[in-house]
Amino acid sequence: GSADVDCDVLVLGGGPGGYSAAFRAADLGLKVVLVERYATLGGVCLNVGCIPSKALLHVAAVMDEVSHLKSAGIDFGAPQIHIDQLRGHKDKVVGKLTGGLAQMAKMRKVTVLRGLGSFVGAKHLRVEETGGAGQEKTGKQQVVQFKRAIIAAGSEAVHLPFMPKDPRVVDSTGALALAGVPKRMLILGGGIIGLEMGTVYSTLGARLDVVEMLDGLMQGADRDLVKVWQKMNAPRFDHVMLKTKTVAAEATPEGIKVTFAPAEEGGSAPEPQTYDLVLQAVGRSPNGRKIGAEQAGVAVSDRGFIPVDIQMRTNVAHIFAIGDIVGQPMLAHKAVHEAHVAAEVIAGELLGDEKLAKAAFNARVIPSVAYTDPEVAWVGLTEDQAKAEGIKVTKGLFPWAASGRAIANGRDEGFTKLLFDAETHRILGGGIVGTHAGDMIGEVALAIEMGADSVDIGATIHPHPTLGESIGMAAEAAHGACTDLP
Ligand code: FAD
Repeated sequence: GSADVDCDVLVLGGGPGGYSAAFRAADLGLKVVLVERYATLGGVCLNVGCIPSKALLHVAAVMDEVSHLKSAGIDFGAPQIHIDQLRGHKDKVVGKLTGGLAQMAKMRKVTVLRGLGSFVGAKHLRVEETGGAGQEKTGKQQVVQFKRAIIAAGSEAVHLPFMPKDPRVVDSTGALALAGVPKRMLILGGGIIGLEMGTVYSTLGARLDVVEMLDGLMQGADRDLVKVWQKMNAPRFDHVMLKTKTVAAEATPEGIKVTFAPAEEGGSAPEPQTYDLVLQAVGRSPNGRKIGAEQAGVAVSDRGFIPVDIQMRTNVAHIFAIGDIVGQPMLAHKAVHEAHVAAEVIAGELLGDEKLAKAAFNARVIPSVAYTDPEVAWVGLTEDQAKAEGIKVTKGLFPWAASGRAIANGRDEGFTKLLFDAETHRILGGGIVGTHAGDMIGEVALAIEMGADSVDIGATIHPHPTLGESIGMAAEAAHGACTDLP
């Protein structure tokens, strides 16, 4: 026909959603083409998101930890920061992982096409080849014909329209490029991404301001958890501006001069301030309007999201969508699970496997983690939500001031909080603030998925002395002694 390349499954976008879908489909025996505009696979998460931010946050956490050791009699002195080497370290971490993905694609015989993809029909995608470090077009193009497609084109940072084009104004990608360490830095938007990047820069020596429209930082997290984080992190900030909007910005020789206004009528806002670096972290916008979806008949919302059902199917029966482009929460682990569902449904349909064809995304909960110091992690119902929705819960709280391990670590500021259905005692949600909270929240997610109650969790023997013990202790605290009948 009119196509240059034929395949069973076309995957548009090589991020955590896209590569996971491509690999699963290939493992199930399908012929897969994966289209990615950039030189490396991994998408936002591996190249300019989860992984480089965690490489830098690890360094920051160790630096902060070392400074805690002063009271234990160990003084390393002031750190010497070699920013070029630090940047090189981060790039090496990213390179290891994206290189690994390329190998895995090869092993599975997934055809990776480098280029900008755009639908030109319900069964055809045009790929305009790109080259170099960015997405410059080489002028070559080809058309891929597919039986099924999975759209995994992700999202990009929102830029405020009035922000000047200036190297001192960056988004998360610019912040991760780590050009230098500013004296004064403004974080626009008090969400996870902004606060993680702020943590890195502040540990490297920057003074921080943060401005947030709503009445609290780290929206979505339990307020009690955030309170602990905020108390521990107060020394990093000169101004925490809540219920405040940014309304104008101007590039001056001294820095970026930013003007604020109250977010609510009758409120007040601080005087304009000048910064050496402004990080825009006010959210991410899906790429749904940039892939020619209308040519394939795929419906896209005004905001650029692609609606899907629980099998990740769009309004067009043979086209699926996954990851950031289908909606919140925009998290890599959500994208990966959705990817597996889409690939399995497609394999089931194309190979006539009825069981696979019934795959669906029905996770009860999706955990969230702020990899700050301390970390803040939560999953399922929060106390505020329970209140708002009139759900009767019993709370189990375990303060880390009573944890031998947390005290031994010199980090006993945290706590673990679990929420149970007041009648059935089944777990509905949980939150942890403290070091390594993110590594522990998976257990709470598992408990929710399994429908565990407070006895199941409290009677599970956790190793001593660990921070993870606090989950068992919080369960016991909710409903008293645990009698586990055989
Ligand atoms: P993406 O990763 O956005 O991948 C989409 C891919 O499609 C991109 O590679 C893009 O180049 C490509 N593409 C788009 N359009 C086209 C086209 N027309 N043609 C060809 N290719 C195209 N999530 C977590 O779970 N944990 C974290 O710790 C975390 N940290 C983050 C830190 C930062 C700074 C940022 C910005 C994000 C972070 N996230 C984190 C979010 C996470 O990165 C995303 O949820 C995840 O990358 C979404 O995966 P995806 O496959 O849907 O899309």
